[in-house]
Amino acid sequence: MLDFDVAQSRLATAANAPAQSEDVSLADCIGRVLATPIVATLDLPSADNSAMDGYAIRFADYQPDVRFPIQQRCYAGDTPQALQPGNAIRLFTGSIMPEGADTVIMQENAREENDEVLFLEAPEKGRHVRYRGEDVRQGTEIVPRGAVLDAAHVALIASQGIDQVSVFPLLKVGLLTTGNELVAPGQPRAPEQIYNSNGPMLTALLRRQGVQSVKALHADDNPESITRAFETLLAECDLVLTVGGVSVGEKDLVKPTIEQLGATLDMWRVNMKPGKPVALAHARNKPIVCLPGNPVSAFVVYALLVSPLVRTMQGRTQVLPAIQYGTLDADREFSGSRISFLRAQAHFDKNALPRLIPHGDQGSAIISSLAWADVLARIPANTTTRKDDVVAFYDLAHWLR
Ligand code: AMP
Ligand code: MG
Repeated sequence: MLDFDVAQSRLATAANAPAQSEDVSLADCIGRVLATPIVATLDLPSADNSAMDGYAIRFADYQPDVRFPIQQRCYAGDTPQALQPGNAIRLFTGSIMPEGADTVIMQENAREENDEVLFLEAPEKGRHVRYRGEDVRQGTEIVPRGAVLDAAHVALIASQGIDQVSVFPLLKVGLLTTGNELVAPGQPRAPEQIYNSNGPMLTALLRRQGVQSVKALHADDNPESITRAFETLLAECDLVLTVGGVSVGEKDLVKPTIEQLGATLDMWRVNMKPGKPVALAHARNKPIVCLPGNPVSAFVVYALLVSPLVRTMQGRTQVLPAIQYGTLDADREFSGSRISFLRAQAHFDKNALPRLIPHGDQGSAIISSLAWADVLARIPANTTTRKDDVVAFYDLAHWLR
């Protein structure tokens, strides 16, 4: 048996980040992976400015009950004059601080009359001023290589005046489903057939992770059909995933077919439940990962073992799923010789670890349990785990992006 964590790190490093990059506009960069780090060329803010609607003064000029002449009304986009001693300049949030001014008094603490202003409270020196460079200093790296660009990154990049970024190329993934019993959704089904749910599921998992190009093919359980599909997918894609047909049954033809292509294949019995049979091969310099056919196994293996490889090949730097902790909230005990990943719902309580409620049927063919669950709770091997024990879990909604 191969240790689960070893299998995970082997898959995470089974390929490299892309060697190329391409430029895209800021409008099109959302969800893309940054290839060249972004370094600030401007201080942010680029000048000292007011954090409030109010009046700029020189703190040393303040005396109680003294009226300040209003020298200028400085609206957004206006250039402030240099502040004359004893004067105030009316300004607004974001207005550049006038030369000579060091303090802003907010308008709520001021009374204006006949172009003069009286301050109702003693100010504090330097209050309500945002200083040049206090957010970002010129020369610092603001977005690292490998970041998946989101709206907050876009704001930060745009604030530097940058409208093009260098990103890794989009990954193309091939998906091969196998099995004579399978029929595509939308087609009529004979009683002995089942619908192909893994194909659409894995396509959806890949899409959600930012893989826009998924080529899905289905092969019957014969070597010619499987070989033909591999030829197409290896020619058109960067990574090929197969599902089913990789155990030790008579019709499990994926392994011999991959070997026929001249690839060496590592067949792993991974110490995990569901899951277990997982294979990794390289053909024509491209990785092939073989997933088990049972839908729950395929889902869990994708989530925990394949998504790190996809992330590596997308150029991302965060490739392993974050581990969180919760308490198991179940009526039964769990034990077994493999690590079990339970489909569970997490309930977040105030002042306590989340409670993890496992689905009542943990069978590897129970598709409905997948749609119900939002986390996978990790139950250690060779240990009895009971209600209220603290266990690790993976948050699927957060991870599968
Ligand atoms: P296999 O490893 O090919 O023997 O598949 C194991 C189980 O998963 C069998 O019950 C298959 O019918 C089922 N299975 C395999 N591929 C799919 C698929 N694409 N969609 C739904 N079920 C599948
Ligand atoms: Mg099969």
